[in-house]
Amino acid sequence: MAARRILLLAAALTGVALAHYAAPLPLNTVAPAKAQFGLPFAGPPGPDTWMLGQGYGNTTGAYRQRRSTYGNLQGIHAGLDFSAPCGTPVRAIGDGVVAEVDGPHGSPPHNVVVDHAGNLSSLYGHLRVRSSVRVGQKVTRGHVIGESGDSQGTCVSAPHLHLELRDRSHQRFFNPLPFIAADWNSLALAGSFGRGYEYDLERPRRWQTPDSQPAALRGGALLNEYRQPWPPAPGGAR
Ligand SMILES: [Zn+2]
Repeated sequence: MAARRILLLAAALTGVALAHYAAPLPLNTVAPAKAQFGLPFAGPPGPDTWMLGQGYGNTTGAYRQRRSTYGNLQGIHAGLDFSAPCGTPVRAIGDGVVAEVDGPHGSPPHNVVVDHAGNLSSLYGHLRVRSSVRVGQKVTRGHVIGESGDSQGTCVSAPHLHLELRDRSHQRFFNPLPFIAADWNSLALAGSFGRGYEYDLERPRRWQTPDSQPAALRGGALLNEYRQPWPPAPGGAR
């Protein structure tokens, strides 16, 4: 009887978990990365147009906020930041259908989600104003879906686009790099991109390059709860 009670308890707890997190789509139903998408901006990068900012993955910034802002994303910066002046036109990275305008999936003040083939969804976050695209609208690669904004809402503090690539259940987060056709090596030469990852001194080579960053699962255990982190967290806290 005790075993049966434990089973019932386990079933009840599982039900609670499912209420919070939909099941991630099986990976074999999600299209693999093959540079099938484009960049979210037209024109060349540069200090007056757009440049790479914070990388996807195990960044020092995400590490410092691994138990707060990124605690639900395994301590991972689950998107790619592009620095850009407010108002820069943001473009769909691939053909698809608009799934959300200012939906519940983060990166305020405004965001757009586009569903693509292969059960992939792209999220465009920190947009300056509500996008004029409509849910259900078909867009093609390069279609302007909004204006870049600022995560602080000022346009002088942290103007950037936060771009995420997720599975359509919004539970898995992928490193966008191998999905997007771009000269990443050249792009990484400017800005801080690729030099801002947190070290685990017990495995110092792991997750130190832009293209070796891990996928993240919503609600999963922290990936960077390191015993010997570098740089150490401010105040000595780990
Ligand atoms: Zn970001």
